[in-house]
Amino acid sequence: MKWPDVVSEETLGPEREEKRMERSWKIGDVKITQVVEMSVEIGELDGLIAEATPDAVKEIPWLYPDYANERGQTLWSVHSYVVDTSSAVVLVDTGCGNHKDLPLIPNWGGLNTAYLERLTEAGYAPEQIDYVLATHLHLDHVGWNTVLRNGRWEPTFPNARYTFVKDEFDYHEELTRGDTVSEDLEHAVEYAGADPDIHRQTRLVFAESIQPCVDAGLVDLVPENHVICDGVRYTSTPGHTKCHHSLTIESHGEVGFITGDFIHHPIQTARPGWSSRGDWDRALSADRRRTFLESAADSEILVFGTHFAGPSVGRIVRDGDTYKFVAA
Ligand SMILES: [Zn+2]
Repeated sequence: MKWPDVVSEETLGPEREEKRMERSWKIGDVKITQVVEMSVEIGELDGLIAEATPDAVKEIPWLYPDYANERGQTLWSVHSYVVDTSSAVVLVDTGCGNHKDLPLIPNWGGLNTAYLERLTEAGYAPEQIDYVLATHLHLDHVGWNTVLRNGRWEPTFPNARYTFVKDEFDYHEELTRGDTVSEDLEHAVEYAGADPDIHRQTRLVFAESIQPCVDAGLVDLVPENHVICDGVRYTSTPGHTKCHHSLTIESHGEVGFITGDFIHHPIQTARPGWSSRGDWDRALSADRRRTFLESAADSEILVFGTHFAGPSVGRIVRDGDTYKFVAA
């Protein structure tokens, strides 16, 4: 597939609400299912990775057509992964949620998607979720933690332990008090050109998506690299946020890795040094990404991209003096 010479309007992008079938993969005995909340609208995240200009994107042929469109714009998705070990069901990252107040990215607020119905259709009713994890506490990773019932935000998964890394939780909770300057939020606000109060969004996310779970007694705060259950563990990958964690899944010698926003877009496998403008520490993010890619290259590790559009699961393969993402 090569970049087309002619750009046709009809092919420029998926609909916001994803209609495709849920898909599953196996890591040993563990089943991992992707549940999509929405496709990001074309252009909505243009410039989030500053170096990824259309011309620069078009220099990487394998991005087309799944990860970039005909115009060299990057494509993105918001989805969860359900990790089913047969003794526990773990939901990793819960999207934006419905009816949330998101002044930082207004288009992602006030959604009304059928995410929960899709989760249930995939075989996982809310009552069956044992653990809810967040790679980090940004608005598009904790939204479905709660649902609005009779004007109140209530935990969506009544039988789950919402298991968050303590340092990540504490950092964001501190931001809600408004006396800490957050570089990642400053970058995000500068990028979005949106809400002038950089703490307001964090306060809203906490109030709507996190505090109700705390109040219900469902939250466990755990140390870095915590083992969630047999074969599933948090894996420290700081940079996007101060205490960002990816997820490592191991079963019968096979390994899976759920990126979170550690690798925000597949383009960062070809250009590991290109960090997101929303990153807390762009240099750290780039450094850790290079180390991971080097260790994963040409291995059997199956990488599950958290915002990768199209085929979002694949392997890291050496490509000259850099890497590429090859869908499984
Ligand atoms: Zn994200």
